[in-house]
Amino acid sequence: MKKSFLLLSKLFGLILIICSCNILQGQDKPNFIVIVADDLGYADLGFTGSKEIQTPNIDKLANNGVTFTNGYVTHPYCGPSRAGLITGRYQARFGLEINLTNSHFDAYNGLPVSEKTFASRLKSSGYKTGMIGKWHLGASYPFHPNNRGFDYFYGFLSGGHSYFPKNVSTTFPLFTKEGKPHYSANEGSYWPLMRNNNSAEFTEYLTTALSRDAAKFVKESRDPFCLYLAYNAPHAPLEAPKELIEKYAHIKDKERRIYAAMIDAMDQGIGMVVKSLEASGKLDNTVIFFISDNGGIVDKSRPESEPRRSHHDWGDNTPFRGGKGSMLEGGNHVPFLVHWPKGLKPKQTYKMPVSSLDIAATMVTLANGDTSGEALEGVNLIPFVRGEKKGVPHEALYWRMEDGKNWAVRTPEAKYLLMRGETGGGKMLVDMIKDPYESKNIIEDNPELREKLAKLWNDWNAKNEPSKYLQAGSYQKARLKFYEDMRKQLDEKTKNKQPLIIE
Ligand code: CA
Repeated sequence: MKKSFLLLSKLFGLILIICSCNILQGQDKPNFIVIVADDLGYADLGFTGSKEIQTPNIDKLANNGVTFTNGYVTHPYCGPSRAGLITGRYQARFGLEINLTNSHFDAYNGLPVSEKTFASRLKSSGYKTGMIGKWHLGASYPFHPNNRGFDYFYGFLSGGHSYFPKNVSTTFPLFTKEGKPHYSANEGSYWPLMRNNNSAEFTEYLTTALSRDAAKFVKESRDPFCLYLAYNAPHAPLEAPKELIEKYAHIKDKERRIYAAMIDAMDQGIGMVVKSLEASGKLDNTVIFFISDNGGIVDKSRPESEPRRSHHDWGDNTPFRGGKGSMLEGGNHVPFLVHWPKGLKPKQTYKMPVSSLDIAATMVTLANGDTSGEALEGVNLIPFVRGEKKGVPHEALYWRMEDGKNWAVRTPEAKYLLMRGETGGGKMLVDMIKDPYESKNIIEDNPELREKLAKLWNDWNAKNEPSKYLQAGSYQKARLKFYEDMRKQLDEKTKNKQPLIIE
């Protein structure tokens, strides 16, 4: 009896030791928050130079953290950029180079299930994972955030959403008043929000609602957690609270004025999340990343010497050329920061090119997460920032749009790109040391450099898959045609049928 009691107490002691080790391990692992803005202009934050728009909360994160002055995303518009970010792999590796549509019943149209997300890689390492905001990576069951590594989801599955609850309808018409079909690329913009698999409350300005939910998530989650906070702000539709628009009355252009208010609301929302972290004692060991998914909207048909136009020209990507959709710097070169009081000294600037792919790699490394499956293509940025690792994080960064219709490759020293319609009609080679704002095409005088960069891109591209999806608009047209054809077939089938008469 005595012996078995001794054995039991030893066993109990051992369990206690194992448990406390696990708890300690949990405490050591940092929390993560990846904050993504949508279509945000490079120069539309205080820390990247804006004098017009007030973003004190984001600026504070930049000031107390590390600013990456050469931070890039992997695609100059929403869906593919987010696919690269969430997998930590170039999205061309799995053929996702367009904006997916919002198809709730299509088991094909989404981020391939063969790809792991950073959430699934962290979840297996003990993380509680949440996704709040814009998903845009497939809307049917297999692609739902809850099935891609996220324990928790609040937001919308489509590529955009109206900001005011009053605009939401469960009976959004498939046809316009004129009888024409809606081809909105942001199909789903007027649908209710979701929490996990159910419709959810939506009772205030969307950016604030997402921020409030994020503040609650970080407060209530046990450590360690990972939150992907993907705003659709300041993406169209341009909608903001009246009082915030009035705050920017000094901005003459109406669209830019609303856009400024949308950024302000996002900044205030980020302030709410940071405050919640502070109040729950979690700020010190939470790694916060902030980026935009692509550059700001500019009217690319406007000569660069001319002032901003009054429609679809509200972003400011100064000092870069181009904007959303462009292979010029304005398309992919985004505000990029990391804030981690426990692990990184404040007020640092890191100048070598880094990628949104590095966010997944950094988190998975710090968390000792799951690295099985397809290889992560980013690098852990922390040793580079701390100066423990010398050299450059990337020999080169690569871009490919829609099967190579446009493309780019950038080394720390040079960039070679094709952006139809924006580079004088052809390929452009740039010295990124002397000319970081891409003012001069040096292609004629540098055949060897051109050849070197072309080889880098071709080697990278050899491992890519062809783009295999339809753009959201084309998808919706094809789907509508399918149903129209079916309707015709059914009509045909019943056209000459005689009524059944039995005797
Ligand atoms: Ca975007």
